[in-house]
Amino acid sequence: MNRKIAIIGAGVAGLSAARVLSTSGARLVVLEKSRGVGGRMATKRVGEAVFDTGAQFFTARADGFAADVQRWVDLGRAEPWPGSAHRWIGRGGMTSVAKHLAEGIDVERERKVTAARRHESGYWELDIENAGILRVERLLLTAPMPQSLALLDQGGVRLPDDVAGELRSVSYRPCLAALLVLDGSSAVPPEGVAPSEGPLRWVADNGLKGLCRQAAITVHAGPEFSAREYGRPEAEVLESMTAAARPWLGDRRVVSAALHRWRYSEPVGSLPRPFVWIPELSLGFAGDAFLGGRVEAAALSGQALGHHLAAQLAPAANEA
Ligand SMILES: Cc1cc2nc3c(=O)[nH]c(=O)nc-3n(C[C@H](O)[C@H](O)[C@H](O)COP(=O)(O)OP(=O)(O)OC[C@H]3O[C@@H](n4cnc5c(N)ncnc54)[C@H](O)[C@@H]3O)c2cc1C
Repeated sequence: MNRKIAIIGAGVAGLSAARVLSTSGARLVVLEKSRGVGGRMATKRVGEAVFDTGAQFFTARADGFAADVQRWVDLGRAEPWPGSAHRWIGRGGMTSVAKHLAEGIDVERERKVTAARRHESGYWELDIENAGILRVERLLLTAPMPQSLALLDQGGVRLPDDVAGELRSVSYRPCLAALLVLDGSSAVPPEGVAPSEGPLRWVADNGLKGLCRQAAITVHAGPEFSAREYGRPEAEVLESMTAAARPWLGDRRVVSAALHRWRYSEPVGSLPRPFVWIPELSLGFAGDAFLGGRVEAAALSGQALGHHLAAQLAPAANEA
């Protein structure tokens, strides 16, 4: 057995689970398909401009999570959105929080898992693209639910019917994100804007958030526009989104524009429990499919699954 526990996904849910488990002494590895950590807490640099491309801020409603956020603030990893008492951002970009969570954890990046098989002797076998097979005793899946379930389908794993029905009921909305660099100050209000009409649902200037010195505008399209236009060529989508964002760009020129397509941006509804653990398969699920499509929900879900598993492992650790 190479490792006891594999966690798939280095988003906030997977990293939160990993931190809890590693504190309890478990041997684990986090497998992440991307080059960086953070998942949908993503920060992208384009020249001198810096954009939060996915989550724009997070809230801290639960006391435990508020204490985590305060710790991140004390460590210089998070700060309030300028002028707001209820919104928190990663300092220098949302990924700074994820990078902090990943410290001291064995995160293997650019490791895309393509199938998860349950071996009859009771262990998991993970196919990793261009990197062979990893065998583990326990498996935690934290990718958006359809992606997690696809790995099990690919490995021919059959889940108990009731759990399968519940997990398969979670679907996600897409979100198209335009990243625009302007040649001067924008007309976006410092707190960002959530338009109530039209194709857009969010416009914010990352420069005013303190991420960079220039006007770097993140524009999120709403769910209907995103679903309808998802497959259209980049230039056409950018043209439509830039035109819709024009009231907040002033008369500035767009000097660079890029498009990010979030296929799984937020769940439609969510499951009203923090995680799923299937003991007979040594298999767990966490992420923002549970408790709500927000950073805080994903963190709390990952932590809760981590604590659940750590409590199970504790007697075995004591015996050893
Ligand atoms: C456009 C947008 C705007 C948002 N705005 C906000 C906001 O303002 N406030 C807020 O609180 N939340 C917001 N959210 C939601 C928030 O970002 C998510 O709820 C949260 O980040 C989810 O974390 P997670 O760990 O559950 O999933 P993810 O962050 O999706 O992490 C899953 C990870 O698994 C990896 N992965 C997937 N498949 C594999 C595989 N086969 N092998 C290896 N790795 C794999 C992915 O690369 C990813 O890193 C927004 C999301 C988007 C997309």
